[in-house]
Amino acid sequence: AAPLVVAVSTSLSAKKGLLIRNRTGFEDARNLNAIVFDKTGTLTKGEFGVTNIVPSNDFKKEDVLGLAAAIEQNSEHPIAAGIVNSAKEQKLTLKRVSDFESITGKGIQGQVDGQKVNVVSPRYVNDNKLVYDQHQFNELSAEGKTVVFVLVNDRLAGMVALADIVRETAKEAVSVLKEQGIHTIMLTGDNQKVADWVAKQVGIDEVYAEVLPDDKANQIKKIKEKGWKVAMTGDGVNDAPALATANLGIAIGAGTDIAMETADVILVRSNPNDVVALIDLSKKTYRKMI
Ligand code: ADP
Ligand code: MG
Repeated sequence: AAPLVVAVSTSLSAKKGLLIRNRTGFEDARNLNAIVFDKTGTLTKGEFGVTNIVPSNDFKKEDVLGLAAAIEQNSEHPIAAGIVNSAKEQKLTLKRVSDFESITGKGIQGQVDGQKVNVVSPRYVNDNKLVYDQHQFNELSAEGKTVVFVLVNDRLAGMVALADIVRETAKEAVSVLKEQGIHTIMLTGDNQKVADWVAKQVGIDEVYAEVLPDDKANQIKKIKEKGWKVAMTGDGVNDAPALATANLGIAIGAGTDIAMETADVILVRSNPNDVVALIDLSKKTYRKMI
């Protein structure tokens, strides 16, 4: 009778927008001790808008935005869409780019007019010891804005700040999970200050920021080593190793193909409340079996 109950649950879950790809993961959902969430695109909508452009050296605002947008046309990251849309709104003509490369978890690079242009994370800028307006950076980050840096031939051209929207449903889900005694954790490649800001909005217990994709998986491994059952919820290419490592990998439906192919369960509606629904369904399904 057991497989039948699972089959019934599987079709029930599909109606609710939960696609179960791996039953072992689904079964573990009822015994979770911790749930890890990616930030961008998972706890937030991943719909960025440009809020500030701060030029450096002899660059103008529109150079900074135009160069960044030219390169970002080749990227699928949510930051890219925000920058490209902003350049389009300002009717900037975007230059041709060659030798596009993505630097995993850190940013992107390409050639424009024979010059090397990068759009990169604060971590990349710090690692390369580039000088920037720390005060302004701190202020923008403390407002929850994601700041990226535009470099031309390894020289700073400016900062671009972008704001994302926190999902109301993320707040609701995290509050219910905490009531159920489940520890909530955020793992993000973004800057610590932005991560802290979003975590506070959502009510997340613990935050790990500036984490590269392989480190996301390592963090999951560490949590498992405590003897805990852990779920990872994410949407990006950078979340795939962590989704694969967790007891239960949950992909947000609006995410990348790689995330969805790696996950045990897909949330079709991109609604974090469906993590709670998934746990409920797992409990109901496997209670019936005993
Ligand atoms: P998250 O965990 O928030 O989804 P990622 O690992 O995808 O973050 O990216 C980490 C950081 O690398 C971003 O916050 C950003 O600073 C930088 N980055 C990644 N991709 C891009 C891009 N296309 N353009 C600019 N910056 C990027
Ligand atoms: Mg993400």
